[in-house]
Amino acid sequence: WAAAARSVHQVVLASPRSFCAGVERAIAVVEQALRRHGPPVYVRKQIVHNTRVVADLRARGAVFVDELDEVPDGALTVFSAHGVAPAVRQEAADRRLPVIDATCPLVTKVHAEARRFVGRGDTVLLIGHPGHEETDGTLGEAPERIRLVPDPAAAETVRVDDPARVSYLVQTTLATDEAAEIVDALRRRFPALSGPGSDDICYATTNRQQAVTAVAGQADLVLVVGSANSSNSRRLVEVAERAGSRAHLVEDVGCVDLRWLDGATTVGVTAGASAPPGLVDEVVAALTALGAGEVSEHTAAVEDVRFTLPKEVRQP
Ligand code: SF4
Repeated sequence: WAAAARSVHQVVLASPRSFCAGVERAIAVVEQALRRHGPPVYVRKQIVHNTRVVADLRARGAVFVDELDEVPDGALTVFSAHGVAPAVRQEAADRRLPVIDATCPLVTKVHAEARRFVGRGDTVLLIGHPGHEETDGTLGEAPERIRLVPDPAAAETVRVDDPARVSYLVQTTLATDEAAEIVDALRRRFPALSGPGSDDICYATTNRQQAVTAVAGQADLVLVVGSANSSNSRRLVEVAERAGSRAHLVEDVGCVDLRWLDGATTVGVTAGASAPPGLVDEVVAALTALGAGEVSEHTAAVEDVRFTLPKEVRQP
């Protein structure tokens, strides 16, 4: 690190960064379930998309599975923050599995919108990434009536049943600028297009993107702490690049490639909504220990959102 770090004079932290209210709630659900019921607690999919979080909970007795058929009869089961399709809920109900739902309330809101739009006869265009657990869950609300629109090219070709009855929804963790471009393209094709009452892209995604945009404008390099399967973390890298900085996603401090630091006087640091704050602290500590003399913070927004826990694990 020593030679590369000589060029780094300052670190600018983006704020907000790291855990959002939905991730804190989902982790607390598993922690409380373990505390109250003891291990094992089965979790369908990664509770949040972060390797360290999953490893920590696994060490304490959480068992992560891909599908419910890996859960033994009668075992306590948690649904992840990304939400599930109705068919998954039905499967759990058919098997009488005791379930605690850690779906973020802001994902639940998108599911409710999907049901409302489909219920009034619309074809619903879901702007989101294929194969992501959140989009899989939302699509599952009405697989024949909801169509995925992953990019502007798809917006030009997607087919609908009736152009007068079309609405759109957005995955909560998309880049705000990219989603706006796709909505514009859809509206040109379908002037009657209607959308959700308030933005589907959540407050945490929006705030982290605004903060990293400001930091990228003054940094030579931006390090985004997050896992490779974290949608909002990957979007932070892209947003920082579009704001003019080099940017890399790092799982933790051990993943920082020293060559990136060459010639980087100012390094911006942020973290996706699923990445623990401690991982950011480790990156900043390494940079300062090796010569970065100044650490400052750019605050784009102050967050005070908190979600109550599901009743099964709420404190009495
Ligand atoms: Fe909820 Fe947004 Fe956090 Fe996802 S990123 S868990 S939608 S608050």
